[in-house]
Amino acid sequence: MKIAALAGGVGGAKLAQGLAAVLGPRELTVIVNTADDFDHLGLRICPDLDTVCYALGGISNPATGWGRHDETWNAMAELGRLGAPTWFRLGDRDLATHMERTRRLNLGQALSTITADFCAAWGVGQRVLPMTDDRVASILETDEGDLDFQEYFVQRAFQPRVRAIRFSGLENAAPAPAVLDALQGADGIILCPSNPFVSLAPILALPGVQSAVSAGRSIAVSPIVGGRAIKGPAAKMFVELGIPPSAQAVAEYYKGIIRALVIDDIDAVHAASISRLGILPLICNTLMHDRADRLQLAHQVLNFLTSGWQ
Ligand code: GDP
Repeated sequence: MKIAALAGGVGGAKLAQGLAAVLGPRELTVIVNTADDFDHLGLRICPDLDTVCYALGGISNPATGWGRHDETWNAMAELGRLGAPTWFRLGDRDLATHMERTRRLNLGQALSTITADFCAAWGVGQRVLPMTDDRVASILETDEGDLDFQEYFVQRAFQPRVRAIRFSGLENAAPAPAVLDALQGADGIILCPSNPFVSLAPILALPGVQSAVSAGRSIAVSPIVGGRAIKGPAAKMFVELGIPPSAQAVAEYYKGIIRALVIDDIDAVHAASISRLGILPLICNTLMHDRADRLQLAHQVLNFLTSGWQ
């Protein structure tokens, strides 16, 4: 079976871990958002890509969901002493990733090539593809002006009100090599429970991606559970963009792109209205607190793709 998963950071990484435990390594390709990448302290930071790779390599910090386990913070402490910005926390092991990635990018190498080499070094057998090798950046238009994604998300703890989101650089960006082939050759395409507006929208906006996803057996897992996000600003963004957050709102957002939507047991009341949108609802527990939950959700989604599809 060939599965392609579209993922942002933490929510995407959790489902990717579940899928990786059920599928053979060559059966899974994860296509990861890079629109929240940024340059900081002279280094290229790719938060979603690293979160997914660290999770699949079994080297992520289980408490935070991002960063490395067994981490130390000596460089950050020294940077603080020197008066450098410390609002974006980078541990010593994590810094090595950004340093080597930046060195290779400066030599003109592609992010997809560097990512493949890093995955080999970390023992990640699955294929992890950045959505593009080009620079795309999410810009949040807020009541406090335009903010870069990490400025909004980490530095300002997503407090400013979002009016609109745009992706700078998108007009000149192409999907990374192998992205469209992975989607077109997939037996199933899974939109992980990631932020629809800032994690999956940039991937879907790349030329050819949305049409490849909508032509396939595509299923999303709702990141909104009981009207709320499990973490992050997804529900707050729905509200600020004028849409009451719910599993049904997620279905409306992905209408025409997905054929099925996994919603949580708590959202079963939305099943009939989701069906009326022409989207098959699949109801199960979608909260991934631990490894058992991740496996269970992965099994449910894969079973549906293989046997429940109509
Ligand atoms: P980020 O880059 O850290 O924002 O990570 P993502 O883009 O992957 O997305 C965060 C989204 O995933 C939020 O909207 C959460 O509600 C959702 N999410 C995180 N964990 C879970 C989970 O266990 N189950 C479900 N259904 N959604 C989750």
